[in-house]
Amino acid sequence: MHQKTQLQAETIRLISGTNTRKCMKCGKCTASCPAFAEMDISPHKFVSMVEHGEIDKLMASKSIWKCMSCFACVERCPRGVEPASIIEAVRQTVIRKQNNNYLRPENIPELLDPKIPQQALVSAFRKYSK
Ligand code: SF4
Ligand code: SF4
Repeated sequence: MHQKTQLQAETIRLISGTNTRKCMKCGKCTASCPAFAEMDISPHKFVSMVEHGEIDKLMASKSIWKCMSCFACVERCPRGVEPASIIEAVRQTVIRKQNNNYLRPENIPELLDPKIPQQALVSAFRKYSK
């Protein structure tokens, strides 16, 4: 693997606190993912692409914006790999690279629906702000 891609993959493992090498490619994470149909790269494939250093493709993927941070994949993974944390790490890397928050606190009140669960708001902040 090229040194740059190796470093990128190692950084994603570090940020996510997850060891992608433990993945046994069982696909349980993808089978339990409610956003799977919307994703261009499924959760188990996401893990395997980090393992192969394909971070640029992951950073350009739709999946990082489709993941709802529900952690169903984390619950189901028999190896403690945490695909959600890996997706989050790639998403954060993209946002930091853009150096620009997608969602700003001052925009929140006008977007707010009182019926939105607080968990969804926290998830949105994690997803769209650095
Ligand atoms: S955290 Fe993301 S990848 Fe994992 S099951 Fe939920 S939507 Fe799918
Ligand atoms: S559930 Fe865990 S071990 Fe199975 S494919 Fe997904 S990340 Fe890999």
